Amino acid sequence: MTDACAFLDEVLDDEQVSRREHAREERSGDWSTAPEAAVRPDVVVWPESTDEVSAVLAAADERGVPVTPYAAGTGLEGGALPAQQGISMDMTRMDEVLAVRPADLQVDVRPGVLGSAVDEAVESHGLFFPPLPSSGDISTIGGMIATDASGMQTVKYGEVADWVLELEAVLADGTVVTAGSKARKTSAGYNLKDMVVGNEGTLAVVTRATLDLAGRPRQIRGGRAVFESLATAGAAIADAVQSGVDVAKIELVGPFAAQLANAYAGTDLPDSPMVFVEFHADHGIENEIDFCRTVFGAHDPIAFEMAADEEMDELWQLRKDMAYALDEYDPDLRPVHPGDVTVPIGSFPDIVRFARERADEADLPMACYGHAGDGNLHYEILVDPDDPEMVDRGEAVYAAIVEQAIEMDGTATGEHGIGLGKREFLEREHGAGAVRAMRSIKDALDPNGTLNPGKIFSDEE
Ligand SMILES: Cc1cc2nc3c(=O)[nH]c(=O)nc-3n(C[C@H](O)[C@H](O)[C@H](O)COP(=O)(O)OP(=O)(O)OC[C@H]3O[C@@H](n4cnc5c(N)ncnc54)[C@H](O)[C@@H]3O)c2cc1C
Repeated sequence: MTDACAFLDEVLDDEQVSRREHAREERSGDWSTAPEAAVRPDVVVWPESTDEVSAVLAAADERGVPVTPYAAGTGLEGGALPAQQGISMDMTRMDEVLAVRPADLQVDVRPGVLGSAVDEAVESHGLFFPPLPSSGDISTIGGMIATDASGMQTVKYGEVADWVLELEAVLADGTVVTAGSKARKTSAGYNLKDMVVGNEGTLAVVTRATLDLAGRPRQIRGGRAVFESLATAGAAIADAVQSGVDVAKIELVGPFAAQLANAYAGTDLPDSPMVFVEFHADHGIENEIDFCRTVFGAHDPIAFEMAADEEMDELWQLRKDMAYALDEYDPDLRPVHPGDVTVPIGSFPDIVRFARERADEADLPMACYGHAGDGNLHYEILVDPDDPEMVDRGEAVYAAIVEQAIEMDGTATGEHGIGLGKREFLEREHGAGAVRAMRSIKDALDPNGTLNPGKIFSDEE
């Protein structure tokens, strides 16, 4: 049989191309991919420069070979899974921090650099990159840009899109484009930069990014409030945001999520809904904490305590480890699908209540947590994959929550992207006309369907 990817040996060095079982297996899905859903690429490549990305894409596009960008594989919607096989383009060797410009509050990076490495590179200048997701130390800047990731600090600082100034990206036919500007604002032409952000590897491969940075706050304090019910915790969060409390993090941790965290880390978090908070300021932080205390007070918290720094680090680590805690909780159960709906903040208590009621009615264990200040709810419905009836029940609850979020003028996905798993909801959320417009953009920039085919649009398999 002829090897459709033989051309790669002309374009890259030997150690940049692998057809080995192990390399293909490792890139057959992402964090969320069930073993039976994995799809192996025919070949894995590791480009080391923009020119190499361009050369591989141009040659693949000419020959009709699909190319799926792959970074750290921590995505939660199958984005990096090579649905139509072909080439998995692993971006992790392009991992340099190219330049730090403290005077401009900017850093230039290659896409394969880990988020935490960017923070480390700018720390000595008193700067940081605020929108890192909880997975910031295991995922890459390229993956974050491609999914428009966001994290615990988004409530104060915004999402990744808000911190990307300029991008270099390679289109499906190998054309290298620069989008956006190093200037803080630009009105020059179409905003290609924000089209590349969130493209999930379907329009362009990001090869360089100029990121905006913020000064590290001089004062940081964290704490935790405990509430009687998820509904009151949700209402307190909404009230804090509506009242203008200046929080840098405000995270919901439901009772079952706390139980999972306790089982995973041997901690003794209370068996009640909690809200973890963190405040950032250069002065007067106590005033903001008092303000939050007053707002929370109207919702009768069982407790609201500020923590010592090391206690707070432990709590945030627990919150970050939730995905691991879920995985390890019961080997016979796994989440049907990672939920990341996001609604306008006024509807947050209602989506929390709705989710809880649907899971209870269906008699399914469900962990609730999330970057609640953004109206974001993570809900993980656990099912036994060998029990098809339970899986169906779980899928039905999962879909009902997504549909309800859309009904509330929210979104099916606040941070993980559409990927494979949320394609059925795209039209429901945006309408047929908007999806047709997205399709036209895809067809114009990638007429041969080379880049990450099978994602975002449900008309592609
Ligand atoms: C424990 C855990 C916690 C998480 N917490 C959060 C969170 O708080 N917030 C959040 O938003 N997400 C979160 N995620 C999801 C995930 O980490 C993010 O989506 C992350 O941005 C993916 O980055 P990655 O490097 O792993 O990309 P991958 O998973 O490898 O790829 C993701 C997508 O980006 C595309 N891609 C990758 N690199 C490029 C490139 N250079 N150019 C073009 N396309 C590219 C891929 O084709 C794919 O579609 C979490 C995941 C885990 C496992």
